[in-house]
Amino acid sequence: MLCELAVKGESLGDNSICPGCLVSGRLFFTSTWVARGIIWYGKDGRRIYQEIKVPEAGCRECGGRFRVLSEEILPYKLFSLPVIEDLCRTYVQPDPYGPGLRKVVEGPVEVSPNYSTLHRWTEGLGSLSRGIEGKEFWTGFGL
Ligand SMILES: [Zn+2]
Repeated sequence: MLCELAVKGESLGDNSICPGCLVSGRLFFTSTWVARGIIWYGKDGRRIYQEIKVPEAGCRECGGRFRVLSEEILPYKLFSLPVIEDLCRTYVQPDPYGPGLRKVVEGPVEVSPNYSTLHRWTEGLGSLSRGIEGKEFWTGFGL
């Protein structure tokens, strides 16, 4: 669990790469936790919006501070990876009687993507690999 790994001063491991200076093995957990909104699946399997706390990491090389995200949370994306994958898979299925775009994005407005967002996802899924952007980064940690 990410929470248990996030001990102050503890290294993120030799394979962790700083998104700021790209030097490996220099990241450590700070004692700071940052609020982060995410849309994912709740216990009952429904899409929900939740505010969670993510640990902050610091870099001993460049002094940068970054939010450490678990593998299902993508940098700067409100929707979690499982939700994005599910919606895209449903949308691009070859079944002519499939739900289609309108049905796929249906649901409570606050946890459903805009049509244009879903279009962007289906076009860009291939580039959703280990996204390292700005001050949030994705790790291989499972939650
Ligand atoms: Zn750095």
